[in-house]
Amino acid sequence: MYIVHIASECAPIAKVGGLGDVVYGLAKEQQKNGNRVEIILPKYDILKYDCLQNLKVERGDLWSFEENNQIHNTIWRADLESLTTYLIEPHHEAYYFNRGYIYGGSDDIERFLYFSRTALEFLYKQDKKPDIIHIHDWPTAIVAPLVHHLYRDLGFHWKGIVFTIHNMEHQGKCFPSHLSRIGLRGEDFRSFDKMQDPNNPSLLNLLKGGIVFSDYVTTVSPRYREEIKTPEGGAGLDRVVRAYSSKIKGILNGIEVESWNPAKDPHLPFPYPSNPTFISTIRKQKEENKKALCKKLQIQADGKPLIGCVTRLVKQKAPYLIKEAIHYTLENNGSFVLLGTPGDQEIRNTFEHLKESYRGHPNLYIGLYFDESLSHLIYAASDGFIIPSLYEPCGLTQMIAMRYGAVPIARKTGGLADTVFDSDDTSIPKEGRTGFCFETADRGGVEYALQRVFETFRNEPAKWDSLIKNGVSCDFSWKKAALTYQKIYFLALLRNRPLAELALLEK
Ligand code: ADP
Repeated sequence: MYIVHIASECAPIAKVGGLGDVVYGLAKEQQKNGNRVEIILPKYDILKYDCLQNLKVERGDLWSFEENNQIHNTIWRADLESLTTYLIEPHHEAYYFNRGYIYGGSDDIERFLYFSRTALEFLYKQDKKPDIIHIHDWPTAIVAPLVHHLYRDLGFHWKGIVFTIHNMEHQGKCFPSHLSRIGLRGEDFRSFDKMQDPNNPSLLNLLKGGIVFSDYVTTVSPRYREEIKTPEGGAGLDRVVRAYSSKIKGILNGIEVESWNPAKDPHLPFPYPSNPTFISTIRKQKEENKKALCKKLQIQADGKPLIGCVTRLVKQKAPYLIKEAIHYTLENNGSFVLLGTPGDQEIRNTFEHLKESYRGHPNLYIGLYFDESLSHLIYAASDGFIIPSLYEPCGLTQMIAMRYGAVPIARKTGGLADTVFDSDDTSIPKEGRTGFCFETADRGGVEYALQRVFETFRNEPAKWDSLIKNGVSCDFSWKKAALTYQKIYFLALLRNRPLAELALLEK
């Protein structure tokens, strides 16, 4: 099958969060399974160019459209390991992707609408005929309406469109005039059955456009699929989700087990196998990594449970519960390492203040920045790893933590509820229990979990070992998810193709 991902992120070259990990991990697995896979991304100035090979101009003369103007673009081609990526560089007066960031401009809508339109223009002009176009979240959701309402008439060939919702919170609300900028008649889409925002009828909603116009929609965990049908989880689109629920499927993300491999991780001073039969080696090497981390960060954790947290610090991740966890841990003679990227200045100030109030505390490190390498060492060094999210479409950090022998402490929501099973939950077999869960998003919830964590870590080493063993035994690779996506792709083809042709494809 010929699959093209059009996305705003792809790890490791352009990653803000899980979306980037998913595009990379899924694409790699799809390629391993014999598919032809390509990824189209903006050519950000902050791409990690050292991870790309053979960067060269694929097409120097691609003209795209915005507000009736022709805009010149250079399309670059590069290898991301074995994956072909195309990078769109607009020669645009607004320097859309030369801003030192991926998201965060007041014109993000314009930037990603332009990118989506140009990505399709590239496929069309290169006469590419993908079987599946796979789009991700609001930044590239407009691809689905564009294909149906513009490129179909131009004679563009594609066979199916699949849209993955990584997070319902960000929807890309915009004016009809925004669509008109890239060649669609915006007002034509302002109806309930198309892209009208259900809560503000004068606006359009790009995420809704992805849901309505794609053949299949996926969420990144089965539980999240159910949650977004509810008013609490649907972020205003729950009715739309319910209306289209027959074409929405929940597929649990995997993690990229080659780059997240504690046995070969170049960021770890003391690698160890992610294999339950080597539990004593895991424990020993974890202890060494813990020492290395403490030395690096100039803190102490000898003999204490070390709780790690690696996260974007945004409302979804419940920063106030992370604060509670820090207080509780320090009050109870544990150590805590937080590596968090603040989502806004207010959150940054809160954590700067917290850092100041604990200045000189030997058992706490707070780093308010993004650091891939340090994150790996934190997973490897931590005993427990906390993810107290208010909601979590899937969450990757709990899976990475388990693979690195850190016991997850998670709020029971979304993908966390699909992957972390409580150590005291007698309704599941012992070997299925992997962590500590809590329901209520308050101090009581966090304390309930952490109190059991400390108790188990200190007084029940055999039980703690079994949690580590059960966690590292889980298969979080992309294998299963990639096969499920493949089935969805076939269903998408079925919707759009005569049966005879499909039979040929199967041969
Ligand atoms: P989300 O996509 O909502 O941010 P996920 O759990 O799906 O959350 O994915 C988060 C990814 O980003 C993980 O790979 C995690 O290690 C990484 N990450 C988050 N914050 C940081 C940070 N400050 N430094 C390094 N990596 C981070």
